[in-house]
Amino acid sequence: MKKNLSLDDYVAGFSKHDRTILAQAITLVESSNKVHVETGKQLIEKLLPLTGKSKRIGISGTPGVGKSTFIEAFGKLLTSQNKSVAVLTVDPTSKISGGSILGDKTRMNELAVDPLAFIRPSPSGLTLGGVASRTRESILLCEAFGFDYILIETVGVGQSETTVSQMVDIFLMLLQPGSGDDLQGIKRGILELVDMVIVTKDDGDNHQIIQKACHDYQKALHILRHEGWIPSVLSCSALKNKGLKEIQEKIEEYFQSQINLISLKRKEQNINWFWQLVDEGIREKYLSKLNTQTINETESLIKDQNLSVPEAAAKIIKMI
Ligand code: GDP
Repeated sequence: MKKNLSLDDYVAGFSKHDRTILAQAITLVESSNKVHVETGKQLIEKLLPLTGKSKRIGISGTPGVGKSTFIEAFGKLLTSQNKSVAVLTVDPTSKISGGSILGDKTRMNELAVDPLAFIRPSPSGLTLGGVASRTRESILLCEAFGFDYILIETVGVGQSETTVSQMVDIFLMLLQPGSGDDLQGIKRGILELVDMVIVTKDDGDNHQIIQKACHDYQKALHILRHEGWIPSVLSCSALKNKGLKEIQEKIEEYFQSQINLISLKRKEQNINWFWQLVDEGIREKYLSKLNTQTINETESLIKDQNLSVPEAAAKIIKMI
């Protein structure tokens, strides 16, 4: 960060609609520097009354399914209607690989230069839990800034889908039949999170296969979820701009017809956020009391099998 902006600088930047300030505010909430963390908290608190008005849309799918192509095309459809869009990513791979699946390649080139769009790549070097709490705060910042839509993208790996579904109003799952995305391959738990399935790349010779897959997915979802909102299955070609309007209509139908469900989701998500902050606070307060030497020694004892894991954990807890 170039210079430390004050809380008032940020607030003034938000009211002037200054994108540089928004980007800096997100950097602020991603920072682990104690002063930044404190200012970040105050900023979120100050901006909270301005939040809650955006449509929060989660988008998930395995690498290569067509997420960035879809987000670019869908985002451009929205901006062509004079709606503003922020794109955030939750990338669980950054910690493990050092790089990231979502962040490394140049993605969404056209949307990136669209004045109504704002794209923010995933913070790197954090655990999924860390990424998640920063993303939640980034969502709030983008909402306070006034974006109509916030798209939160994640790779369909491990826990990240659950994490993202806990931050959004509607969760879209992108699938590509015949690439391992067959019904049997999708964990039941994931289908339970989904509010809409989108089959991608419906532009080649496989139109019939895709229609059959849509039908099968729809049947499975009907069996799985027979009350409330039954997720629809739609196909599209982001490359050929086909089916995107229909997807938008379905999403709007969801937002109009599921007001109670969305309000309930947001309340539960707030409770979830509350516990996440309590959890983080407790960790920070108590774990910071341990010195690195004790931690290193204990870890060595475990590695050398001179201390069992439960014993080591009990020892540390007693120390705190
Ligand atoms: P991501 O990894 O999920 O973000 O996937 P990408 O959006 O990067 O797309 C992966 C590949 O699929 C790229 O080569 C895209 O050009 C291609 N692709 C994406 N959408 C479509 C589509 O609608 N039709 C076709 N034929 N190819 C697509």
